[in-house]
Amino acid sequence: MDYFFWLIIGGVILCLLIATGIIWTSNRRALRQPQATPEVSPEHGTEVEVIEPETGIEVPEAAGSRLVRLRRRLAGSNNALARGLADLLSRDRLDEDTWDEFEATLISSDLGVGPTTELVTTLRKELAIEGVADSSHAATVLRRELVNLVDPTMDRSLNLQGSDGKPAVVMVVGVNGTGKTTTCGKLARVLVAENKTVLLGAADTFRAAAAEQLSTWGERVGVETVRGEEGADPASVAYQAVERGIADGVDVVLIDTAGRLHTKTGLMDQLGKVKRVIEKIAPVSEVLLVLDATTGQNGLVQARIFRDVVDVSGLVLTKLDGSAKGGIVVQVQRELGVPVKLIGLGEGVDDLAPFEAEGFVNGLMGE
Ligand code: GDP
Repeated sequence: MDYFFWLIIGGVILCLLIATGIIWTSNRRALRQPQATPEVSPEHGTEVEVIEPETGIEVPEAAGSRLVRLRRRLAGSNNALARGLADLLSRDRLDEDTWDEFEATLISSDLGVGPTTELVTTLRKELAIEGVADSSHAATVLRRELVNLVDPTMDRSLNLQGSDGKPAVVMVVGVNGTGKTTTCGKLARVLVAENKTVLLGAADTFRAAAAEQLSTWGERVGVETVRGEEGADPASVAYQAVERGIADGVDVVLIDTAGRLHTKTGLMDQLGKVKRVIEKIAPVSEVLLVLDATTGQNGLVQARIFRDVVDVSGLVLTKLDGSAKGGIVVQVQRELGVPVKLIGLGEGVDDLAPFEAEGFVNGLMGE
């Protein structure tokens, strides 16, 4: 009897020991398990890198002298509109053929049919009464009408007012190759010259070269660039750039975006998302659409697509130094109802100027 009693007690103790061992081992294993990764928010879904600028940055050219130089370049550019205007003003007599030729020149210089008809009708009326014998009078009438077409009443200032002490956020959008990245770099330089603190965000993550190019601009003009890996989520990079801009207390964050136009829906989704995600922490104060002025009608088609995708608040016309036909300024403004705010007149660091109707028309007329 005693024997069986101690056998049962022994068995129970053995079972207890085994159970304790199992519990202890599994607890230890559980403790050794890595902590579950906290859920990553889409805004921080991408690891970003901050590229610091070099020290000893050259001082940018003063805004005043840059404008004079740029105007001279515009006047000297091989511009169809400027040539047509010069030709018209060189005639002693304005007959039907001359008007037809002038009309054709205006249309071929991307002014658009509507504005061309308006301009020619007004000029014909005024010059028919007063005659063109006095070419300086004809030039005055022409200048006045062109300035009206370009519309001097539009507000062309950049909205660089951040709200609640946060930086102003400027999104730069447009088709690849139009000059977005270059514009971001040049604009950063202008703002630095105006004693503003700036941060660049490389949200064109489709091409590694784009982020590389933007950080090179950043280093050159003395501002930091936040960039992600190639293929990273552009919205996440943009968000983190703005987040850093807020933490650093900078005045302006410039966000360079991708502009692949393979599918309109893809573009819409992506740009819309970038804007929405940024606006979780700070309002976007400007959406600048960059258009290559040499692409004429094609530029207009692009402009319409972007207008449907994001609320464009200003236009940047690049490459007006080349074979661009100046008339595009009038057409694209009318089409979008948005002012041209900046113009690009070369590849150099200081080749960006604020747009202004009188100066532009003077440049076109070679004055
Ligand atoms: P993105 O793809 O839109 O970012 O375009 P990039 O900034 O890389 O510019 C494409 C090319 O256009 C580069 O070779 C620039 O140097 C050139 N570019 C940009 N702006 C101007 C301009 O105003 N005038 C001229 N001539 N070239 C420009």
